[in-house]
Amino acid sequence: MSDKYDVVVVGAGPAGYVAAIRCAQLGLRTACVDKWSDAEGKPSLGGTCLNTGCIPSKALLDSSEKYWQAKNELGIHGITVEDASMDVGKMLARKDTIVETLTKGIAGLFKANKVDAFHGTGKLLAGKKVEINGPDGVTVLQADNVILAVGSIPMSIPVAVVDNEYILDNEGALAIPEVPGHLGVIGAGVIGLELGSVWKRLGSEVTLLEALDTFLPAVDEQLSREAQRAFGKTQGMAIKLGARVTGSSIHGGKVKVEYSDKDGEQSIEVDRLIVAVGRRPATENIADADAGLELDERGFIQVDDHCKTAIPGVYAIGDAVRGPMLAHKGSEEGVAVAEIIAGQAGHVNYDTIPWVIYTHPEIAWVGITEQEAKESGIEYKTGFFPFAATGRALAMHEQGGRVKMIADAKTDQVLGVHILGPHASELIAEAVLAMEYSASSEDIARTIHAHPTLSEAIHEAALSVDDRAIHKVN
Ligand code: NAD
Repeated sequence: MSDKYDVVVVGAGPAGYVAAIRCAQLGLRTACVDKWSDAEGKPSLGGTCLNTGCIPSKALLDSSEKYWQAKNELGIHGITVEDASMDVGKMLARKDTIVETLTKGIAGLFKANKVDAFHGTGKLLAGKKVEINGPDGVTVLQADNVILAVGSIPMSIPVAVVDNEYILDNEGALAIPEVPGHLGVIGAGVIGLELGSVWKRLGSEVTLLEALDTFLPAVDEQLSREAQRAFGKTQGMAIKLGARVTGSSIHGGKVKVEYSDKDGEQSIEVDRLIVAVGRRPATENIADADAGLELDERGFIQVDDHCKTAIPGVYAIGDAVRGPMLAHKGSEEGVAVAEIIAGQAGHVNYDTIPWVIYTHPEIAWVGITEQEAKESGIEYKTGFFPFAATGRALAMHEQGGRVKMIADAKTDQVLGVHILGPHASELIAEAVLAMEYSASSEDIARTIHAHPTLSEAIHEAALSVDDRAIHKVN
């Protein structure tokens, strides 16, 4: 095998593996280097998303939701479930099987597309060479193009040092062997809320300590208020805002967490503590000093709008560059860069990246929030529609939440769609498509939506922009 490639991709997460497959589809000779190993030390492709992120967390969210329903909700349907119990070991094993299936699936896709997979730590050298430090020693590949897709790692804070036994990062939080009596979470962001939800449904008392005074500041305010009520008052997670953690210590199998808030110094004792305070780019030692790669002060690889670094032929994508740390954003950048390398017009529309938080109800949005519209002085109009007024949501016993649409007051172009409710993660795709095609709210209002479906809430929200929703008083 020759060690000269058209493209060498470093990192096989959703950004890197998608880039590698697209490069191969376009006829480029492609290698992909990744260092991830499973518990047995075998290569495991797919990066954080497949191994310890999006996929395993969704597996646990689904298992815990089913358990919660069996315990608390099926009675409404006339179904009696006596002595519902949760075998945590089995739940974790199911999650591991899903991860294994998907990571092996990537290996299969690499084989089918003739992407050469290398196991080891990749490093960019001068002259578009990539050094791979793997179990069998050091290999150097020469490339015409290099795509750096090295991802991100959890941020750590000195006041709560992760040991993955009592104080856990996202990886440890996916493998807690038994339901903790009291679970503490530092950070009420995406990971904190998703993992807090899992263990709350399984019976833990959950306390979220969030440094900010605002709950989910990136979410439309109207929806974040409603979500805070749902997660707090209704579901019983204790969400403490303005709570800055100042220290932690482990004694006798318990973690004492100290924090300060508006009432002064406080402390709680928990059985396990999850640290979910954000992620940072995994760019340490990614390049030799003389390779010429530029990082910003926070460690992100500096790129232009087309993911080009300052080194000709070297690109960077995904969590290691500016923009939201979302798998699908990285994947789209991977496709775009592959197409640019192949001489095509690859492009990512950063204005239509959907966000999803997989709580119950789910939160999903695309485009700008009402507070952003106000701040930027845009003249806008809004429409909203509650799920409680749709037949399908009622039939599903899923009446919480709403769809909110924001449209330009003059042109009627849709600027943002915000959903709190059942299957928001799936419903948001319609809004993304609409915005990709620069649709107006009237375009959506004139689109026939099947009845009875949850998507009717989007239809009615669009009608409501023009004060003509049918199933609510405007
Ligand atoms: P996040 O940025 O969503 O939330 C971190 C929270 O921790 C913030 O609200 C922050 O104010 C708070 N915080 C920071 N330091 C603190 C401290 N010392 N004490 C108390 N609170 C503190 O980050 P995350 O939840 O760790 O997720 C990391 C990244 O992974 C995010 O960029 C997210 O987009 C991505 N992710 C996405 C999904 C999804 O798309 N569903 C799921 C998981 C993770």
